[in-house]
Amino acid sequence: MTLPGTSTLAARAIAALGRCGATLPTIAGDAGPVPLTARTPIDGSVLAFLHPSTSADVEAAVAGAHDAFLTWRTVPAPKRGSLVRRLGELLSEHKSDLADLVTLEAGKIRSEALGEVQEMIDICEFAAGLSRQLYGRTMGSERPGHRLSETWHPLGVVAVISAFNFPVAVWSWNTALALVCGDPVVWKPSETTPLTAMACDALLRRAATETGAPDGLHHVVLGTAVVGEQLVDNPRVALVSATGSVRMGRAVAPRVAARFGRCLLELGGNNAAIVTASADLDLAVRGIVFAAAGTAGQRCTTLRRLIVHRSIVDDVTDRIAGAYRQLTVGSPFDDSVLVGPLISGKAYHAMHAALDTARADGGVLVTGGQRVGSGESFYVTPAVVRMPEQTAIVRAETFAPILYVLAYDTFDEAIALHNGVPQGLSSAIFTTDQREAERFLAADGSDCGIANVNIGTSGAEIGGAFGGEKETGGGRESGSDAWKSYMRRATNTVNYSVELPLAQGVEFGPRSSDDAE
Ligand code: NAD
Repeated sequence: MTLPGTSTLAARAIAALGRCGATLPTIAGDAGPVPLTARTPIDGSVLAFLHPSTSADVEAAVAGAHDAFLTWRTVPAPKRGSLVRRLGELLSEHKSDLADLVTLEAGKIRSEALGEVQEMIDICEFAAGLSRQLYGRTMGSERPGHRLSETWHPLGVVAVISAFNFPVAVWSWNTALALVCGDPVVWKPSETTPLTAMACDALLRRAATETGAPDGLHHVVLGTAVVGEQLVDNPRVALVSATGSVRMGRAVAPRVAARFGRCLLELGGNNAAIVTASADLDLAVRGIVFAAAGTAGQRCTTLRRLIVHRSIVDDVTDRIAGAYRQLTVGSPFDDSVLVGPLISGKAYHAMHAALDTARADGGVLVTGGQRVGSGESFYVTPAVVRMPEQTAIVRAETFAPILYVLAYDTFDEAIALHNGVPQGLSSAIFTTDQREAERFLAADGSDCGIANVNIGTSGAEIGGAFGGEKETGGGRESGSDAWKSYMRRATNTVNYSVELPLAQGVEFGPRSSDDAE
């Protein structure tokens, strides 16, 4: 008997899933493992019950992907690009269905959910073009009659472990690139967002069939961290691309390193913006409010710390608080709503605890932090807190909409505060002073993987490489040359002469009598 949820939200999810070509499994009575429950944060209701993958399922997925790799790696890269181009078309056709699933499972407002699906379409276009540009290079050899070059080859099976808050975009950044690079993918989505994963998998399988790609290029395994760990430890997984908390990265990285696998880590952020005395405050406030309160503060790039010149800190705080009071909180399917639900009660309690700690540290709650409604869903008004200094709670990532405001006097102090956290994902400065802007982007400025001027910390385009430093993990995904993480590099030296000169002038062979003197 299938046990989907009975709410209209469940019906909406199942309909969207069906249009994408995926069907829910039948869960038979009490037999088998405890089912995985897909819920919506919109009202806490059940969307579906699913089978978690067993260790045999994970092993079979990796084995199937490895078999596919043996064929896929020999398919010319531009032909691999055809698969990804077709995937992009199917994602476009099902943009609305996928956005529905993102809203239902992750609670994103409709506009942001559509934006996330658009990001998938964009990366497919990028990857299809990239399939003709996986350039190696040729270097001048120091030896006559020799050619020295680099070539890039497919790497192997890529395991993608993803977080709840970007349930599909992060998968697509990895998968579109991996596929054109010649690598099959085994995906373990967040246990919170299995349905979006099933929909994407169905569309990718359809694209593979239509373009004549081999079977087994893509597999989804469902479950909690235990399922992720099985991928992490599997020696046939060449690259583990893991997105999530620093805690998860700390568990994953040493295990992959122990078997000399490759890891690409996209972990937590604690992103800050500096607002200098010269800033265009109208523009700054708009950028700050979207970056801090958008997605209910549940983006890895969410703005969490605002470092404002003391001469304008009261004014800036008042303006932000005023804008926050205009934000509508509620169902993400309601077009007038800008702030949807937190993902869970756990997230709400973490926010509550962080606000208590901030107050105990001398912080003043300027606005927000109130729960809206009750029951099984958790809606909050985004909070702004003035802090006397950068205390431990400010230096930690609380995955909820809390914006801590700090004052600074000198630019050096602002940069020190900015960089004075363990994470290093995204950063911004609002200024009209070119010296300040350039200093922020210079080697002794922001220490983050993303550094912006007069734009908030969130909302990256796919064209640039995405990722961060320090505890954010150092990985780069998406655009630019991030594709290199999904390939192995070979250095090739070809001798087309009749001599055999050795590098660095080394002589090895019978010595002449002249040399012997
Ligand atoms: P999470 O760490 O709880 O889970 C992320 C994924 O890792 C899930 O699929 C989970 O099942 C899996 N996982 C957890 N422990 C594991 C283990 N030991 N071995 C293998 N897999 C394991 O994160 P979340 O709550 O889903 O997402 C929020 C966090 O993700 C935040 O910290 C946010 O900043 C971060 N994030 C980072 C980026 C980025 O690009 N840097 C993007 C999105 C989210």
